[in-house]
Amino acid sequence: MSQLTLLEKPLEDIKPNRWITITEQRDFTEFLSNVGVNVEGLDWCASTWERYQCSKDNTHTKKIRYRSCSKRGLCPRCSMAYASQRANLQYQWIKQNLADRLDFDLKMNQIVLTFPESLHDIDSKSFSRMIKEFMKEFEIKAYGYCIQTRHSKDPLSDIYKHCHILSLNINPEDNKLVESKYYFDVNKMREVWKDIIERHTNSKIEGSVNLHTKYASIRHDKPEVLHLLAYLYRYSIHDLFNVQIRKASINYVQCPQIENSNDKALRLQEVRSKITDLIHEDKSRIIWCGLLTSTKRAELMKLMLYADSIQSSLDPTEYIVQVDSFAKPGFHWKSLVELEKEMRVRAKECRDCGSPYEDQPFETGNYEMDNEPMTRTNETTNTIPKCRVASAFGRKARDTRNDCSEVERTSA
Ligand SMILES: [Zn+2]
Ligand SMILES: [Zn+2]
Repeated sequence: MSQLTLLEKPLEDIKPNRWITITEQRDFTEFLSNVGVNVEGLDWCASTWERYQCSKDNTHTKKIRYRSCSKRGLCPRCSMAYASQRANLQYQWIKQNLADRLDFDLKMNQIVLTFPESLHDIDSKSFSRMIKEFMKEFEIKAYGYCIQTRHSKDPLSDIYKHCHILSLNINPEDNKLVESKYYFDVNKMREVWKDIIERHTNSKIEGSVNLHTKYASIRHDKPEVLHLLAYLYRYSIHDLFNVQIRKASINYVQCPQIENSNDKALRLQEVRSKITDLIHEDKSRIIWCGLLTSTKRAELMKLMLYADSIQSSLDPTEYIVQVDSFAKPGFHWKSLVELEKEMRVRAKECRDCGSPYEDQPFETGNYEMDNEPMTRTNETTNTIPKCRVASAFGRKARDTRNDCSEVERTSA
Protein backbone atom coordinates (compact mmCIF):
# COMPACT_ATOMS: atom_id res chain seq x y z
CA MET A 1 0.00 0.00 0.00
CA SER A 2 2.83 2.39 0.81
CA GLN A 3 3.95 2.53 -2.80
CA LEU A 4 0.63 4.06 -3.83
CA THR A 5 0.40 7.78 -4.24
CA LEU A 6 -2.64 8.20 -2.14
CA LEU A 7 -4.49 11.42 -2.55
CA GLU A 8 -6.56 12.20 0.50
CA LYS A 9 -9.43 13.04 -1.73
CA PRO A 10 -12.95 12.00 -0.84
CA LEU A 11 -14.70 9.95 -3.45
CA GLU A 12 -18.01 11.39 -4.42
CA ASP A 13 -19.34 8.81 -6.83
CA ILE A 14 -21.49 6.07 -5.50
CA LYS A 15 -20.24 2.71 -6.55
CA PRO A 16 -23.13 0.26 -6.54
CA ASN A 17 -20.93 -2.79 -6.23
CA ARG A 18 -18.93 -1.95 -3.16
CA TRP A 19 -20.95 -4.65 -1.37
CA ILE A 20 -19.70 -3.88 2.07
CA THR A 21 -18.84 -0.80 4.06
CA ILE A 22 -15.44 -0.07 5.53
CA THR A 23 -16.90 -0.36 9.04
CA GLU A 24 -18.49 -3.73 8.32
CA GLN A 25 -15.29 -5.08 6.84
CA ARG A 26 -13.29 -3.82 9.82
CA ASP A 27 -15.77 -5.28 12.34
CA PHE A 28 -15.76 -8.63 10.59
CA THR A 29 -11.96 -8.70 10.41
CA GLU A 30 -11.83 -7.88 14.10
CA PHE A 31 -14.29 -10.65 14.91
CA LEU A 32 -12.27 -13.25 13.00
CA SER A 33 -9.02 -12.05 14.44
CA ASN A 34 -10.38 -12.12 18.04
CA VAL A 35 -11.40 -15.71 17.51
CA GLY A 36 -7.90 -16.47 16.25
CA VAL A 37 -8.49 -16.85 12.52
CA ASN A 38 -5.71 -15.55 10.29
CA VAL A 39 -7.06 -12.47 8.53
CA GLU A 40 -3.95 -10.87 7.11
CA GLY A 41 -4.85 -8.11 4.66
CA LEU A 42 -8.58 -8.59 4.98
CA ASP A 43 -9.44 -5.15 6.36
CA TRP A 44 -7.44 -3.58 3.55
CA CYS A 45 -9.79 -4.96 0.88
CA ALA A 46 -11.54 -2.17 -1.04
CA SER A 47 -10.13 0.53 1.19
CA THR A 48 -8.37 2.11 -1.77
CA TRP A 49 -9.75 2.96 -5.17
CA GLU A 50 -8.38 3.85 -8.57
CA ARG A 51 -9.91 5.78 -11.42
CA TYR A 52 -9.35 5.32 -15.12
CA GLN A 53 -10.13 7.70 -17.93
CA CYS A 54 -11.06 7.19 -21.58
CA SER A 55 -8.00 7.03 -23.84
CA LYS A 56 -9.71 9.22 -26.48
CA ASP A 57 -11.42 11.89 -24.39
CA ASN A 58 -10.71 12.56 -20.75
CA THR A 59 -14.03 14.32 -20.20
CA HIS A 60 -15.85 10.99 -20.70
CA THR A 61 -17.24 8.94 -17.84
CA LYS A 62 -14.47 7.60 -15.63
CA LYS A 63 -14.17 4.00 -14.61
CA ILE A 64 -13.61 3.33 -10.95
CA ARG A 65 -12.52 0.17 -9.28
CA TYR A 66 -11.61 -0.84 -5.78
CA ARG A 67 -8.44 -2.72 -5.08
CA SER A 68 -9.47 -6.04 -3.63
CA CYS A 69 -7.79 -8.81 -1.68
CA SER A 70 -9.28 -11.58 -3.88
CA LYS A 71 -9.59 -13.90 -0.88
CA ARG A 72 -12.82 -15.53 -1.91
CA GLY A 73 -14.24 -17.74 0.79
CA LEU A 74 -12.62 -15.64 3.53
CA CYS A 75 -13.36 -12.07 2.47
CA PRO A 76 -17.11 -11.37 2.44
CA ARG A 77 -16.72 -8.56 -0.10
CA CYS A 78 -14.75 -10.62 -2.60
CA SER A 79 -17.12 -13.56 -2.07
CA MET A 80 -20.16 -11.37 -2.76
CA ALA A 81 -18.51 -9.91 -5.85
CA TYR A 82 -17.78 -13.41 -7.13
CA ALA A 83 -21.34 -14.70 -6.55
CA SER A 84 -22.77 -11.65 -8.26
CA GLN A 85 -20.49 -12.03 -11.25
CA ARG A 86 -21.33 -15.71 -11.69
CA ALA A 87 -25.04 -14.98 -11.30
CA ASN A 88 -24.87 -12.28 -13.92
CA LEU A 89 -23.12 -14.55 -16.35
CA GLN A 90 -25.64 -17.35 -15.89
CA TYR A 91 -28.47 -14.82 -16.15
CA GLN A 92 -27.22 -13.54 -19.52
CA TRP A 93 -26.85 -17.11 -20.74
CA ILE A 94 -30.48 -17.92 -19.93
CA LYS A 95 -31.80 -14.57 -21.10
CA GLN A 96 -29.96 -14.28 -24.40
CA ASN A 97 -30.17 -17.92 -25.44
CA LEU A 98 -33.66 -18.72 -24.17
CA ALA A 99 -35.84 -15.96 -22.71
CA ASP A 100 -35.32 -13.44 -25.50
CA ARG A 101 -36.31 -16.00 -28.13
CA LEU A 102 -39.39 -17.57 -26.61
CA ASP A 103 -42.91 -16.36 -27.31
CA PHE A 104 -43.97 -16.80 -23.67
CA ASP A 105 -42.63 -15.34 -20.47
CA LEU A 106 -39.75 -17.53 -19.34
CA LYS A 107 -39.68 -17.80 -15.57
CA MET A 108 -37.19 -19.04 -13.08
CA ASN A 109 -38.77 -20.90 -10.26
CA GLN A 110 -37.04 -21.58 -6.99
CA ILE A 111 -38.04 -24.56 -4.93
CA VAL A 112 -36.50 -25.14 -1.53
CA LEU A 113 -36.75 -28.70 -0.32
CA THR A 114 -36.23 -29.27 3.38
CA PHE A 115 -36.45 -32.21 5.78
CA PRO A 116 -37.94 -32.75 9.20
CA GLU A 117 -35.32 -32.13 11.87
CA SER A 118 -34.52 -35.80 12.48
CA LEU A 119 -33.38 -36.16 8.85
CA HIS A 120 -31.15 -33.09 8.54
CA ASP A 121 -28.04 -35.20 8.16
CA ILE A 122 -29.33 -37.34 5.28
CA ASP A 123 -26.57 -38.40 2.88
CA SER A 124 -26.22 -36.42 -0.33
CA LYS A 125 -26.57 -39.40 -2.66
CA SER A 126 -29.99 -40.34 -1.31
CA PHE A 127 -30.95 -36.69 -1.33
CA SER A 128 -30.00 -36.33 -5.00
CA ARG A 129 -32.08 -39.38 -5.89
CA MET A 130 -35.05 -37.91 -4.05
CA ILE A 131 -34.65 -34.56 -5.81
CA LYS A 132 -34.60 -36.25 -9.21
CA GLU A 133 -37.68 -38.25 -8.38
CA PHE A 134 -39.45 -35.07 -7.33
CA MET A 135 -38.54 -33.30 -10.56
CA LYS A 136 -39.67 -36.28 -12.60
CA GLU A 137 -43.02 -36.33 -10.87
CA PHE A 138 -43.63 -32.74 -11.96
CA GLU A 139 -42.12 -33.29 -15.39
CA ILE A 140 -39.68 -30.46 -14.84
CA LYS A 141 -37.27 -30.69 -17.75
CA ALA A 142 -34.80 -27.89 -17.14
CA TYR A 143 -33.32 -27.22 -13.72
CA GLY A 144 -30.26 -26.93 -11.57
CA TYR A 145 -29.95 -27.82 -7.91
CA CYS A 146 -27.57 -27.19 -5.07
CA ILE A 147 -27.50 -29.17 -1.85
CA GLN A 148 -26.48 -27.00 1.07
CA THR A 149 -25.51 -28.18 4.51
CA ARG A 150 -25.50 -24.98 6.52
CA HIS A 151 -28.34 -22.92 7.78
CA SER A 152 -27.86 -19.42 6.40
CA LYS A 153 -29.33 -17.89 9.55
CA ASP A 154 -26.99 -19.84 11.82
CA PRO A 155 -24.05 -21.02 9.70
CA LEU A 156 -22.08 -22.44 12.63
CA SER A 157 -24.92 -24.63 13.89
CA ASP A 158 -25.43 -28.35 13.37
CA ILE A 159 -25.77 -29.74 9.90
CA TYR A 160 -28.92 -28.61 8.13
CA LYS A 161 -29.22 -30.28 4.78
CA HIS A 162 -31.59 -28.69 2.32
CA CYS A 163 -31.73 -28.10 -1.36
CA HIS A 164 -32.28 -25.09 -3.58
CA ILE A 165 -33.64 -25.87 -7.00
CA LEU A 166 -33.85 -23.37 -9.81
CA SER A 167 -36.03 -24.51 -12.67
CA LEU A 168 -37.31 -23.04 -15.91
CA ASN A 169 -40.91 -23.33 -17.08
CA ILE A 170 -40.12 -24.96 -20.41
CA ASN A 171 -41.25 -28.28 -21.77
CA PRO A 172 -40.46 -29.87 -25.13
CA GLU A 173 -43.58 -30.63 -27.13
CA ASP A 174 -43.90 -31.26 -30.88
CA ASN A 175 -40.26 -30.27 -31.48
CA LYS A 176 -40.57 -26.94 -29.77
CA LEU A 177 -40.56 -25.52 -26.27
CA VAL A 178 -43.87 -24.77 -24.65
CA GLU A 179 -44.72 -23.10 -21.39
CA SER A 180 -45.16 -25.29 -18.34
CA LYS A 181 -47.10 -24.20 -15.27
CA TYR A 182 -46.09 -26.80 -12.71
CA TYR A 183 -45.05 -24.27 -10.12
CA PHE A 184 -48.54 -23.06 -9.31
CA ASP A 185 -49.51 -26.16 -7.39
CA VAL A 186 -47.59 -25.78 -4.14
CA ASN A 187 -49.88 -28.08 -2.17
CA LYS A 188 -49.28 -30.90 -4.60
CA MET A 189 -45.54 -30.24 -4.36
CA ARG A 190 -45.73 -30.59 -0.57
CA GLU A 191 -47.67 -33.85 -0.82
CA VAL A 192 -45.28 -35.32 -3.35
CA TRP A 193 -42.21 -34.28 -1.37
CA LYS A 194 -43.64 -35.75 1.83
CA ASP A 195 -44.40 -39.00 0.08
CA ILE A 196 -40.87 -39.17 -1.36
CA ILE A 197 -39.25 -38.55 2.02
CA GLU A 198 -41.41 -41.21 3.68
CA ARG A 199 -40.67 -43.80 1.04
CA HIS A 200 -36.94 -43.17 0.88
CA THR A 201 -36.31 -42.92 4.60
CA ASN A 202 -38.88 -45.39 5.88
CA SER A 203 -40.33 -42.79 8.15
CA LYS A 204 -43.73 -41.39 8.92
CA ILE A 205 -44.11 -37.63 8.94
CA GLU A 206 -46.79 -35.99 11.04
CA GLY A 207 -48.44 -33.02 9.39
CA SER A 208 -47.08 -31.47 6.24
CA VAL A 209 -43.49 -30.89 5.15
CA ASN A 210 -41.90 -27.54 4.46
CA LEU A 211 -41.43 -26.70 0.88
CA HIS A 212 -41.07 -23.20 -0.45
CA THR A 213 -41.39 -21.93 -3.90
CA LYS A 214 -41.42 -18.64 -5.74
CA TYR A 215 -40.74 -17.49 -9.23
CA ALA A 216 -39.61 -14.50 -11.21
CA SER A 217 -39.72 -13.54 -14.85
CA ILE A 218 -36.31 -13.71 -16.53
CA ARG A 219 -36.98 -10.70 -18.71
CA HIS A 220 -39.08 -8.58 -16.38
CA ASP A 221 -37.55 -9.18 -12.98
CA LYS A 222 -33.82 -9.25 -13.47
CA PRO A 223 -32.93 -8.21 -9.88
CA GLU A 224 -34.93 -11.08 -8.42
CA VAL A 225 -33.51 -13.65 -10.84
CA LEU A 226 -29.99 -12.41 -10.12
CA HIS A 227 -30.74 -12.73 -6.43
CA LEU A 228 -31.93 -16.34 -6.85
CA LEU A 229 -28.81 -17.23 -8.83
CA ALA A 230 -26.34 -15.40 -6.59
CA TYR A 231 -27.76 -17.22 -3.58
CA LEU A 232 -26.56 -20.49 -5.08
CA TYR A 233 -23.09 -19.15 -5.87
CA ARG A 234 -22.48 -17.64 -2.47
CA TYR A 235 -19.78 -18.70 -0.04
CA SER A 236 -20.69 -19.63 3.54
CA ILE A 237 -18.51 -16.77 4.83
CA HIS A 238 -21.17 -14.45 3.44
CA ASP A 239 -23.76 -16.00 5.78
CA LEU A 240 -21.39 -15.76 8.73
CA PHE A 241 -20.80 -12.09 7.91
CA ASN A 242 -24.55 -11.41 7.63
CA VAL A 243 -25.38 -13.08 10.89
CA GLN A 244 -22.48 -11.80 12.99
CA ILE A 245 -22.06 -8.28 11.56
CA ARG A 246 -24.64 -6.99 9.11
CA LYS A 247 -27.80 -8.28 10.75
CA ALA A 248 -26.19 -8.84 14.15
CA SER A 249 -28.69 -11.63 14.77
CA ILE A 250 -26.22 -13.91 16.52
CA ASN A 251 -23.06 -13.08 18.39
CA TYR A 252 -20.95 -16.21 18.35
CA VAL A 253 -18.36 -14.92 20.79
CA GLN A 254 -20.36 -13.28 23.51
CA CYS A 255 -22.60 -14.84 26.06
CA PRO A 256 -23.28 -13.28 29.46
CA GLN A 257 -23.82 -16.66 31.20
CA ILE A 258 -20.25 -17.69 30.65
CA GLU A 259 -18.02 -15.84 33.09
CA ASN A 260 -15.31 -18.35 33.79
CA SER A 261 -12.23 -17.47 31.77
CA ASN A 262 -11.44 -21.13 31.09
CA ASP A 263 -14.88 -21.64 29.60
CA LYS A 264 -14.43 -18.52 27.53
CA ALA A 265 -11.14 -19.75 26.10
CA LEU A 266 -12.71 -23.10 25.31
CA ARG A 267 -15.58 -21.45 23.55
CA LEU A 268 -13.29 -19.28 21.44
CA GLN A 269 -11.37 -22.37 20.48
CA GLU A 270 -14.55 -24.14 19.45
CA VAL A 271 -15.83 -21.17 17.46
CA ARG A 272 -12.44 -20.87 15.76
CA SER A 273 -12.49 -24.50 14.74
CA LYS A 274 -16.04 -24.19 13.38
CA ILE A 275 -15.12 -21.08 11.39
CA THR A 276 -11.96 -22.74 10.07
CA ASP A 277 -14.09 -25.66 8.85
CA LEU A 278 -16.49 -23.24 7.21
CA ILE A 279 -13.70 -21.38 5.42
CA HIS A 280 -12.00 -24.51 4.15
CA GLU A 281 -14.98 -26.59 3.14
CA ASP A 282 -15.79 -27.04 -0.54
CA LYS A 283 -18.45 -24.70 -1.78
CA SER A 284 -21.73 -26.41 -2.66
CA ARG A 285 -21.89 -27.01 -6.38
CA ILE A 286 -24.78 -26.29 -8.69
CA ILE A 287 -25.71 -29.34 -10.72
CA TRP A 288 -27.54 -28.56 -13.94
CA CYS A 289 -29.96 -31.24 -15.10
CA GLY A 290 -32.28 -32.17 -17.94
CA LEU A 291 -32.24 -29.76 -20.86
CA LEU A 292 -29.63 -27.60 -19.11
CA THR A 293 -26.89 -30.23 -19.14
CA SER A 294 -24.19 -29.86 -21.78
CA THR A 295 -25.05 -33.26 -23.30
CA LYS A 296 -28.54 -31.95 -24.10
CA ARG A 297 -27.24 -28.71 -25.61
CA ALA A 298 -27.81 -29.74 -29.24
CA GLU A 299 -31.34 -30.88 -28.43
CA LEU A 300 -32.12 -27.64 -26.62
CA MET A 301 -30.73 -25.63 -29.52
CA LYS A 302 -32.90 -27.49 -32.00
CA LEU A 303 -35.96 -26.85 -29.86
CA MET A 304 -35.06 -23.17 -29.66
CA LEU A 305 -34.41 -22.98 -33.33
CA TYR A 306 -38.00 -23.85 -34.00
CA ALA A 307 -39.22 -21.09 -31.68
CA ASP A 308 -36.68 -18.70 -33.12
CA SER A 309 -37.64 -19.27 -36.73
CA ILE A 310 -41.23 -18.32 -35.97
CA GLN A 311 -40.13 -15.05 -34.40
CA SER A 312 -37.55 -14.22 -37.02
CA SER A 313 -40.04 -14.76 -39.81
CA LEU A 314 -41.39 -11.37 -38.89
CA ASP A 315 -38.15 -9.83 -40.05
CA PRO A 316 -37.05 -11.16 -43.44
CA THR A 317 -33.68 -9.37 -43.33
CA GLU A 318 -32.58 -11.82 -40.64
CA TYR A 319 -32.62 -14.62 -43.19
CA ILE A 320 -29.94 -13.02 -45.29
CA VAL A 321 -27.50 -12.00 -42.63
CA GLN A 322 -26.53 -15.08 -40.67
CA VAL A 323 -26.50 -18.78 -41.25
CA ASP A 324 -25.52 -21.02 -38.35
CA SER A 325 -24.40 -24.65 -38.06
CA PHE A 326 -27.98 -25.85 -38.45
CA ALA A 327 -28.06 -23.95 -41.75
CA LYS A 328 -30.75 -21.77 -40.31
CA PRO A 329 -30.67 -18.01 -40.16
CA GLY A 330 -30.35 -15.68 -37.23
CA PHE A 331 -29.33 -18.22 -34.67
CA HIS A 332 -26.33 -17.86 -32.51
CA TRP A 333 -26.02 -19.73 -29.25
CA LYS A 334 -23.73 -17.97 -26.80
CA SER A 335 -21.57 -20.09 -24.56
CA LEU A 336 -20.68 -19.05 -21.03
CA VAL A 337 -17.08 -18.58 -22.15
CA GLU A 338 -18.18 -16.26 -24.92
CA LEU A 339 -20.41 -14.25 -22.60
CA GLU A 340 -17.64 -13.98 -20.04
CA LYS A 341 -15.31 -12.65 -22.70
CA GLU A 342 -17.90 -10.11 -23.82
CA MET A 343 -18.26 -8.87 -20.25
CA ARG A 344 -14.51 -8.55 -19.82
CA VAL A 345 -14.23 -6.56 -23.04
CA ARG A 346 -17.13 -4.30 -22.10
CA ALA A 347 -15.56 -3.57 -18.71
CA LYS A 348 -12.53 -2.14 -20.49
CA GLU A 349 -14.51 0.13 -22.81
CA CYS A 350 -15.50 3.72 -22.26
CA ARG A 351 -19.25 3.90 -21.65
CA ASP A 352 -19.54 7.04 -23.78
CA CYS A 353 -17.60 6.19 -26.90
CA GLY A 354 -16.43 2.57 -26.67
CA SER A 355 -12.72 3.42 -26.78
CA PRO A 356 -10.50 1.58 -24.32
CA TYR A 357 -9.73 3.09 -20.94
CA GLU A 358 -6.12 4.01 -20.28
CA ASP A 359 -4.01 1.18 -18.83
CA GLN A 360 -2.94 3.12 -15.76
CA PRO A 361 -5.24 4.87 -13.31
CA PHE A 362 -4.99 8.67 -13.39
CA GLU A 363 -6.08 8.95 -9.75
CA THR A 364 -5.98 6.73 -6.70
CA GLY A 365 -7.12 7.35 -3.17
CA ASN A 366 -8.32 6.02 0.15
CA TYR A 367 -11.94 5.15 0.45
CA GLU A 368 -13.06 6.86 3.61
CA MET A 369 -16.76 7.12 3.32
CA ASP A 370 -19.52 4.62 3.60
CA ASN A 371 -21.39 5.64 0.54
CA GLU A 372 -22.73 2.22 -0.19
CA PRO A 373 -26.35 2.56 -1.25
CA MET A 374 -28.94 0.62 0.72
CA THR A 375 -29.14 -2.98 -0.35
CA ARG A 376 -31.91 -5.44 0.47
CA THR A 377 -29.84 -7.13 3.11
CA ASN A 378 -28.76 -3.80 4.59
CA GLU A 379 -32.29 -2.93 5.44
CA THR A 380 -32.49 -5.21 8.42
CA THR A 381 -29.34 -4.05 10.19
CA ASN A 382 -29.15 -2.63 13.70
CA THR A 383 -31.13 -5.30 15.47
CA ILE A 384 -29.96 -6.05 18.98
CA PRO A 385 -27.29 -8.75 19.09
CA LYS A 386 -28.59 -11.89 20.72
CA CYS A 387 -26.67 -14.62 22.37
CA ARG A 388 -26.96 -17.70 20.22
CA VAL A 389 -23.78 -19.48 21.14
CA ALA A 390 -25.75 -22.52 22.16
CA SER A 391 -26.01 -23.66 18.58
CA ALA A 392 -22.28 -23.36 18.09
CA PHE A 393 -21.90 -25.92 20.86
CA GLY A 394 -24.11 -28.59 19.49
CA ARG A 395 -27.14 -27.75 21.59
CA LYS A 396 -30.23 -26.84 19.71
CA ALA A 397 -30.79 -23.14 20.07
CA ARG A 398 -34.09 -23.29 18.25
CA ASP A 399 -36.08 -25.16 15.74
CA THR A 400 -34.58 -24.56 12.34
CA ARG A 401 -37.15 -26.46 10.34
CA ASN A 402 -39.19 -23.50 9.38
CA ASP A 403 -36.66 -21.09 8.15
CA CYS A 404 -34.31 -20.62 5.38
CA SER A 405 -33.05 -17.22 4.45
CA GLU A 406 -34.84 -17.33 1.15
CA VAL A 407 -38.15 -18.28 2.54
CA GLU A 408 -39.12 -14.92 3.93
CA ARG A 409 -39.70 -13.56 0.48
CA THR A 410 -41.54 -16.56 -0.85
CA SER A 411 -44.29 -15.65 -3.26
CA ALA A 412 -47.77 -16.73 -2.44
ZN1 LIG B 1 -11.53 -8.96 -0.48
ZN1 LIG C 1 -14.66 7.72 -24.41
